[in-house]
Amino acid sequence: MDFRLTEEQEALRESVRDFAREVVAPVIAEHYEKHTFPYDVIRQMGKMGLFGLPFPEEYGGMGGDYFALCLALEELARVDSSVAITLEAAISLGAMPIYRFGTEEQKARWLPKLVSGEALAGFGLTEPGTGSDAGGTQTRAVLDGDEWVINGSKAFITNSGTDITALVTVTAVTGTRPDGSKELSTIIVPSSTPGFTVAPGYSKVGWTASDTHELTFDDCRVPADNLLGERGRGFAQFLRILDEGRIAIAALAVGLAQGCVDESLKYARERHAFGQPIGNYQAIQFKIADMEMRAHTARLAYYDAAARMLAGEPFKRQAAMAKLHASTIAVDNAREATQIHGGYGFMNEYPVARFWRDSKILEIGEGTSEVQRMIIARDLGL
Ligand SMILES: Cc1cc2nc3c(=O)[nH]c(=O)nc-3n(C[C@H](O)[C@H](O)[C@H](O)COP(=O)(O)OP(=O)(O)OC[C@H]3O[C@@H](n4cnc5c(N)ncnc54)[C@H](O)[C@@H]3O)c2cc1C
Repeated sequence: MDFRLTEEQEALRESVRDFAREVVAPVIAEHYEKHTFPYDVIRQMGKMGLFGLPFPEEYGGMGGDYFALCLALEELARVDSSVAITLEAAISLGAMPIYRFGTEEQKARWLPKLVSGEALAGFGLTEPGTGSDAGGTQTRAVLDGDEWVINGSKAFITNSGTDITALVTVTAVTGTRPDGSKELSTIIVPSSTPGFTVAPGYSKVGWTASDTHELTFDDCRVPADNLLGERGRGFAQFLRILDEGRIAIAALAVGLAQGCVDESLKYARERHAFGQPIGNYQAIQFKIADMEMRAHTARLAYYDAAARMLAGEPFKRQAAMAKLHASTIAVDNAREATQIHGGYGFMNEYPVARFWRDSKILEIGEGTSEVQRMIIARDLGL
């Protein structure tokens, strides 16, 4: 068992770290404050090949793997989570469903643009009335001749309304199974399709420089060929997508947790109280030591889940544990980092204030902490 990174992985990690510090850090606070999408940063990430990390070269990708994506997400989130979630959702929720389940024609049409970062895609599973309970999906798609007619709405969909969003993949009820349960399928809806409306962006607590919208489909017609994979496989498809996505969210959470250590170390050396740097006090040292330990153990958890996934072994439980643990410790580290910064920690100009606001969603998105516990318990046979 060897968790050390290869030279290639180290090189990737360092180049993303430099990019995050030199390109993202100087501009992100303003985007965060103004709730604007950082198009220029995203364009540069595209040029670096980050959107193509886990995809084969035939689609314009870098020929890497999902672990490479996780390493990049960790380094980005160490500086900023809005940019990191934009990349995570673009790959894991946007391009990956097409890569995993699409026809050769769908892949050839969409992947080169998505993999280059020139275009983004969203994945619409959650609805205003149902999130954790995906079986409660109300959006319907009816086959009318050679077109699907979609009606319904989706809530909180990342990357769905940027100027470069090309499509959203939506889950919809396409029929009833013999046992009376819903037949769910996944359908590609290009952004310009009549009847597809994107609401103005939400006013969010965190991730404010990322793009999130409610979507409505009103007699929205797309060609029958836009079905992604087989009809009726929607449930199995998004379970696979979410299992993988949890490893990526865990990596993002570890990045945030490590960013809290970085900022706290810096501040503990600079800030003086009672005649000396606060880092001289054991109470502060212990907080930082615990934060470092939490980031390290959560990192090992996502490394393990990713290794199992890449080896083709079962990884559902490990992915859920990594996501649950990493998101919990990200919230803990953000709380402690804010405490170490005292009053300045409550000021938006300090990165830890962003970390604090960005940490909570990690316990909610791509499956809440309760849902992760349900997955773990079920996998244990309960
Ligand atoms: C910023 C942001 C971006 C997002 N991006 C996307 C996206 O791109 N695509 C997408 O499809 N979705 C997206 N989501 C939605 C996100 O995945 C859901 O919010 C999440 O899955 C929870 O669903 P919900 O909000 O409907 O909560 P609910 O499912 O209504 O849950 C409410 C509470 O009840 C708990 N609960 C529910 N069922 C049980 C149970 N059986 N036992 C115990 N507790 C339970 C939950 O854990 C939670 O605490 C995003 C959300 C946000 C906020």
